[in-house]
Amino acid sequence: MSRYAADAGFEVVIGLEIHAQLATRSKIFSGASTAFGAEPNVQACAVDLGLPGVLPVFNEGALKMATLFGLAINAEIAKVSSFDRKNYFYPDLPKGYQITQLARPIVSGGQVRIQVGEGDQAYQKTINVTRAHLEEDAGKSLHENFESVTGIDLNRAGTPLIEIVSEPEMASAEEAVAYARKIHAIVQYIGICDGNMQEGSFRVDANVSVREKGQTELGTRTEIKNLNSFRFLQRAIEFEIERQIDVIESGQSVVQATRLYDPQK
Ligand code: ADP
Ligand code: MG
Repeated sequence: MSRYAADAGFEVVIGLEIHAQLATRSKIFSGASTAFGAEPNVQACAVDLGLPGVLPVFNEGALKMATLFGLAINAEIAKVSSFDRKNYFYPDLPKGYQITQLARPIVSGGQVRIQVGEGDQAYQKTINVTRAHLEEDAGKSLHENFESVTGIDLNRAGTPLIEIVSEPEMASAEEAVAYARKIHAIVQYIGICDGNMQEGSFRVDANVSVREKGQTELGTRTEIKNLNSFRFLQRAIEFEIERQIDVIESGQSVVQATRLYDPQK
């Protein structure tokens, strides 16, 4: 809990990366459908699979939606932006690379105003958005209904996303949730994302670090991936804050790592 952090003489620093699926009918570089819930692997075409010889063609709808988001948060819209290949292999990305905007993102430098707490304790704060870039989603690994193997559904491959990256400016789980809720409200209000967290249309990665009060450099962060509810976001951050404080108080150092939140455990 954030109260525990303060009592123990620590400050909490949180930055969020939010993936919002854009509500286009077709994919970001192909004409395949983005509709949710189809039979596995019927909506992944040759472009989505990155088969040799295919030509990705950029979906103008995705450009308009990302631009609208930039305008909604008072950001700068790049006159020229570009796509890069981020090379990595993962079972849900068998073509071996993701098309994303590393060097020149479409949106940079916006702000979001959040309200935290209630009654006398309520306060407002501005959170800066570092950038928001366009990219394609990967497929999905399916663990249910399979024994000792994993199923791969590539229907989601190539679905347009904007990844919205915040500055490390949130100081508690409450602030992080207020910010995520605000972004969730904005993308739905401007009609660029259906906001359905159960279906994975809106997913949050939380970068969390702690540092001793008064220390100016940031502490070592860990990143908790793919949180798909605000309750899990809150709990995962609270758990991670306590874990990091325990690590430091026991004389060890936090190791930078990607972690998963298991709500059952
Ligand atoms: P990557 O893509 O490798 O995760 P980024 O530099 O894009 O790296 O940072 C991702 C997120 O981590 C941003 O939201 C940023 O604000 C946040 N962040 C960076 N350093 C820290 C830190 N020490 N503590 C908490 N959050 C951090
Ligand atoms: Mg990250």
